[in-house]
Amino acid sequence: MIPFSNLQAQNQPLREELLNAVASVLDSGQFILGKHVRQFEASFAEYCGVKHAFAVNSGTSALHLALLAAGVEPGDEVVTVPFTFAATVAAIYYCGARPVFVDIEPRSFHMDPAALAAAITPRTRAILPVHLFGQAANMDAILAIARPLGIAVIEDAAQAHGASFGPQALRVGGIGDLGCFSFYPTKNLGACGEGGMVTTNSDELAGKVSLFRDWGQDRKYHHAVRGFNYRMEGLQGALLSVKLPHIETWTLARRAIAARYDSLFDAADPEGILRPWVRPGAGNRHVYHTYTIRTPRRDELHQYLTEAGTGSAIHYPRPLHLQPAYADAAFPEGSMPVAEAAAREVLSLPIYAEMDPASVDVVVSQVSDWSLNHLIT
Ligand SMILES: *Cc1c(COP(=O)(O)O)cnc(C)c1O
Repeated sequence: MIPFSNLQAQNQPLREELLNAVASVLDSGQFILGKHVRQFEASFAEYCGVKHAFAVNSGTSALHLALLAAGVEPGDEVVTVPFTFAATVAAIYYCGARPVFVDIEPRSFHMDPAALAAAITPRTRAILPVHLFGQAANMDAILAIARPLGIAVIEDAAQAHGASFGPQALRVGGIGDLGCFSFYPTKNLGACGEGGMVTTNSDELAGKVSLFRDWGQDRKYHHAVRGFNYRMEGLQGALLSVKLPHIETWTLARRAIAARYDSLFDAADPEGILRPWVRPGAGNRHVYHTYTIRTPRRDELHQYLTEAGTGSAIHYPRPLHLQPAYADAAFPEGSMPVAEAAAREVLSLPIYAEMDPASVDVVVSQVSDWSLNHLIT
């Protein structure tokens, strides 16, 4: 049996440190924000190479706060992609704004800059690209469109902690105007519960994020704006501070697992299987939140692996413009052909820092066997 992911394998070696962190929060009585969260914010800001980081209670809250800080209001349009987790689009609706979907690039699965350029209107208030699967979207092309128009760019970096982009190898979260991270347990940096972060280099945007996060209070019991309760808990801050120093080791391990998959797939070259594409360029670093392959008979392969005892997952089976919840955005079937095809064909294989390299060999043999016996016949 090869699981899709294994949280215990990560937490077990840190068990004592994590329990000590819990005790430290208990003893301090600082359960909401407080010193443990402040320390985690400072370390995470440094890790991302950004000036400000605000810890919140989920990645979804981070997206909502970033959109609010960017001034997104009812009636505004926010350009984003339909091939992402629902939170990206839900946060736009939380602001009373309308998502304007644009299609993705076929190999990266990221926002297609040409489609973005065509979708801008006078009501476009923000652009929300997603660094899907662990590598950065084409931020140069996106910023080249946004900057001259003064439109805010918000990075959904929920799957890409530590990924970098461009010749300067800028870390995600500090490339656009605001960055949003999730610490959902299975993300590359996972809390023991819910958590998220908003990052920015702008003092002005930082002030707004901080205001909206804590009831819109500019001082106690004085509510300058209609804010939210999106504060991170002290426990999560303390637990995440234990884990953050390990993220580089875990990222390198994920990259090693991905490299092993790549070389085995290149050698076996199974018919009808496309391995993940990596954006070329020295400063671009993929952190492999997922190792997502593509094949036209995906559902059959998914079932075959399940029966063979190997975990795999579909990220994501139905693009958001075709979800009943978001049908009012009025993008009919066929309007996002690249995203629609991706949703039919993608399959994520097991990858996590502690994964045994021998398991990678097993998964690749299973995929290759399936391809030989089931695809060509
Ligand atoms: C996980 C995720 C989110 C939401 O984060 P939560 O912490 O679960 O609220 C947003 N966007 C993307 C792309 C994600 O993968």
